[in-house]
Amino acid sequence: MKLQNDNSCSWINDLDPRSNIKTLKENLDCEWLIVGAGYTGLSAARKLGQLFPNQKIILVDAQLAGEGASGRNSGYLVDTTLNDGFTSNKELENYKKKADIYKLGIQVIKKFIKEYQVDCDWNECGKYFASSNIKDEKILINFSETLSKLNFEHKILDNQELTKKLGTSFYNIALYTKGGILLHPGKLVRAMIDTLPENVQLFENSLLMNWKKDRDTISCYFENAKIMTKKIIFATNGFLKSLGVKSNYNFPITLTASMTRPLSDQEFKSIGEPEEWGVLPVRPMGATIRMTKDRRILIRNTAEVYNPFQMSQSDLNKRAYKQKIGIKKRFPQLPDDIIQTSWSGIVSRTRNSSQIFEKIDKNIFVAGCYNGSGIGVGTLFGEQIAIKASNEHTKEIETIEARSKPTWLPPQPFLNLGIKSRLIYERLRARSEI
Ligand SMILES: Cc1cc2nc3c(=O)[nH]c(=O)nc-3n(C[C@H](O)[C@H](O)[C@H](O)COP(=O)(O)OP(=O)(O)OC[C@H]3O[C@@H](n4cnc5c(N)ncnc54)[C@H](O)[C@@H]3O)c2cc1C
Repeated sequence: MKLQNDNSCSWINDLDPRSNIKTLKENLDCEWLIVGAGYTGLSAARKLGQLFPNQKIILVDAQLAGEGASGRNSGYLVDTTLNDGFTSNKELENYKKKADIYKLGIQVIKKFIKEYQVDCDWNECGKYFASSNIKDEKILINFSETLSKLNFEHKILDNQELTKKLGTSFYNIALYTKGGILLHPGKLVRAMIDTLPENVQLFENSLLMNWKKDRDTISCYFENAKIMTKKIIFATNGFLKSLGVKSNYNFPITLTASMTRPLSDQEFKSIGEPEEWGVLPVRPMGATIRMTKDRRILIRNTAEVYNPFQMSQSDLNKRAYKQKIGIKKRFPQLPDDIIQTSWSGIVSRTRNSSQIFEKIDKNIFVAGCYNGSGIGVGTLFGEQIAIKASNEHTKEIETIEARSKPTWLPPQPFLNLGIKSRLIYERLRARSEI
C-alpha cells in the first residue's frame, strides 16, 4: 500500500520546492502523535506545540505535508453552503449550527494569517451559487429565504448581471453571498508548515500502515520503524477508513480539477476583464469554477468512487478532457489547449454531511470529514481536537459538538453501490452544469 499524489497541481507547483524533508527511519517514543499533515493535522500540531512546549510531539504524513487535499482544493473559504430550502424550524436550526462552525473556521484562519503575516491571496469577494438552468431559481429563492432568516447578506442576479461580473453568458441565475473568501490553498497550507512550533517534529513520506493500543501505549507501525505514543490524533480525512478509524461513518470520494495558464491580455479582454470570482454549482455534481486574481481559470467537475491512493495518468487525462469541455462551454472564445495542469484529490464524506470530531477511545482522538468545505473547518477542528485531547474545554468545542453527529453507513458492497447510484442520479440532475 502506497499513497501517491500526482505532482501536477498548479497550486502546489506555484510554490518553491521544500527542503529539509525528514522521513521516519528509526523507532521513536512520544507523548503525542498526529497522523496526517493537512490543515487538520498541522493545526492540531500547532496547538499542542503551544500548549505543551516541553513535550515530544510528532506529526507524520504519508506524502509531503500539505500536498493532499489541503494543497489541492479550490480555495473557497465558505461562510455558507447551499441547502435546498427548509420545511421546518429544526432544519433551520441545524443549518445555523453548520453556519456557526463555518464562521468559527473563517475566524481561525483570519487569526492565523494575521498573526504570521501570511500572504495567501486572500480576497473577501464573496461567491456565487450559479446555474444555467433558470428552473433552479426556485432552489435559490428558497435558499435566499434561509439566508435572510439568518442575516447573511446576499442577492439574486440574472444573466445580464452575471455576464458582466463573470465574463461568461453561460449562467442564467445565481445567488451571490457577500461573506465567502477566495484564497490560494497552497500558500495557506505552506505557511502552516513553515510556522510549526519548534517542538513539533515532522516526518514526511512516512505512511502509517497499522496501529494498535495496548493499555496506555499506542504502537504505530511504519515501513521502516515504529512509534510508541501515549496519545494519538488521527487527521487523515479521506484516509480514516483505510486506518480503520470510524470506518462505518465516512468514505472517501475522489475529485479532479484542472487549471488553465494565465489568460493573455487579448484573451482576458475577450471575456470582459472580470475581477476575481468564484462560482459554486446549485446542483451538487455541477462544476465549481473560479477566475483567479492572476487570470487563470480553475474548474472542478468530477466526484467519484475511485482508489484514493492513486489515480493513473490515463484516467486523469480522461477527467481533464471533461474539464476542457466545461471551460469551452463557458468560454467558447478561448483556445482548446489552454489547460495547464490537472490533478486529483480526496475528500471525506459522511452520510448526513456532518463532520467527525471525537474521542474514540482513551487517548485516541479524530477530526475530519468536511465534505468539500474543510479549509476553515479543518483548521478549526484540528486546533479544537488538540484542546479536547488536553482535557480542556472551549466555547468552540461546544459549538462543534452541538452539530448533528455523522450517521451510520451500511457495509460493503452495499455502501459503494449506494454511493455510486446516488452519484449517477446527481450527475444526471446536474448534466447541464458540468
Ligand atoms: C479538488 C478539491 C477541491 C476542494 N475544494 C474545497 C474548497 O474550495 N473549499 C474547502 O473548504 N474545501 C475544499 N476541499 C476539501 C478540503 O481540501 C479538505 O476538506 C481539507 O483539505 C481537509 O483537510 P485535512 O487536513 O483534514 O485532510 P488532508 O488535507 O486530506 O490531509 C490528510 C493527510 O493525511 C495523510 N495521510 C493519509 N493516510 C495516511 C497514513 N496512513 N499515514 C500518514 N499520513 C496519511 C495524507 O497524505 C494527507 O496529507 C476540496 C478538496 C479537493 C480534493
